[in-house]
Amino acid sequence: MEERIISARRRAEDDIQENSLRPRTLSEYIGQEKLKQNLSVFIKAARERGDSLDHVLLYGPPGLGKTTLSQIIAAELGVNLRATSGPAIERPGDLAAILTNLAPYDVLFIDEIHRLNRSVEEILYPAMEDFALDIIIGKGPSARSLRLDLVPFTLIGATTRAGALSSPLRDRFGVVARLEFYSDHELKEIIMRAAKILQVEIDEAGALTIAKSSRGTPRVATRLLKRVRDFAQIKANNVINTSVAKQALQMLEVDSLGLDEVDRHLLRTMIEKFGGGPVGLDTLAAAISEETETIEDVYEPYLMQIGFLQRTPRGRVVTPRAYQHLGLPMLRQNEQETLW
Ligand code: ADP
Repeated sequence: MEERIISARRRAEDDIQENSLRPRTLSEYIGQEKLKQNLSVFIKAARERGDSLDHVLLYGPPGLGKTTLSQIIAAELGVNLRATSGPAIERPGDLAAILTNLAPYDVLFIDEIHRLNRSVEEILYPAMEDFALDIIIGKGPSARSLRLDLVPFTLIGATTRAGALSSPLRDRFGVVARLEFYSDHELKEIIMRAAKILQVEIDEAGALTIAKSSRGTPRVATRLLKRVRDFAQIKANNVINTSVAKQALQMLEVDSLGLDEVDRHLLRTMIEKFGGGPVGLDTLAAAISEETETIEDVYEPYLMQIGFLQRTPRGRVVTPRAYQHLGLPMLRQNEQETLW
């Protein structure tokens, strides 16, 4: 119980700190170079024309910087950001209220935009295309439609799964950008920057050790940094170097590739219970008691990125590299399956 309260408190602290760690300008934002270059051109052009920036769709696994980037876009445009999320907008009227309250050129950020319901989504189409709101007044034969003008605005949608977006919605975004996993070097820079803000002493090698275990993801990098800092505070005079980082990561059961207990449990289950696959997503989710969405959005992208998992038409398959990493022997039959 006590532990749960402490960990809840710690999560709340992490959330507050997460905000203070967010870079505020494009030049402070590390990585995603190509996207940054493009965005800076689009932003400059929109500002010069005195126009609103085209609608932007950002997609990619959680923690790669979609929210951060949208805050930066609003700041670089010099406008306000109004943030909400797909599941938070329940009825068309809720979205209409948000849209009619925007100031000219504001940014409306909708996180998890793939979770908007259909009737709300339909309000967005004319809003995005013509900056207009179509309202139906009355019911039955006497019902009529009224068009209200909106101010020009920029919609930034964020999603972990672009494929789940309906095509009419996806087609209305002028800029569609996929965020990529970060390199170890970029994550090292992000960790060094976060350490400075958190006033933690860390050397480059220590930062690189944490970076390598961060699954290509800034949110994981900053979270690990905070946990390693706790360890350094109690056991190592508040200084993080390679050896302190390694010990702390070992204690956290995060391995050299950043796999944690759940990743390993997932791979082991596939190997031990399903002969390495192919195994269907629903079956796998039931076997490890996780939501299918969590497996698809959080665990799989990184496991596929490092070549430990493949998606095939018949289901998920563990690759020989994963067997090697886990130190598990590969049976002949599985070998054939995985090479299939
Ligand atoms: P998402 O919206 O994609 O889930 P966030 O924008 O919330 O991800 O980013 C998670 C955390 O990672 C933020 O608190 C931020 O501090 C950090 N972060 C993300 N991208 C970067 C970056 N490029 N440079 C520095 N820190 C970053």
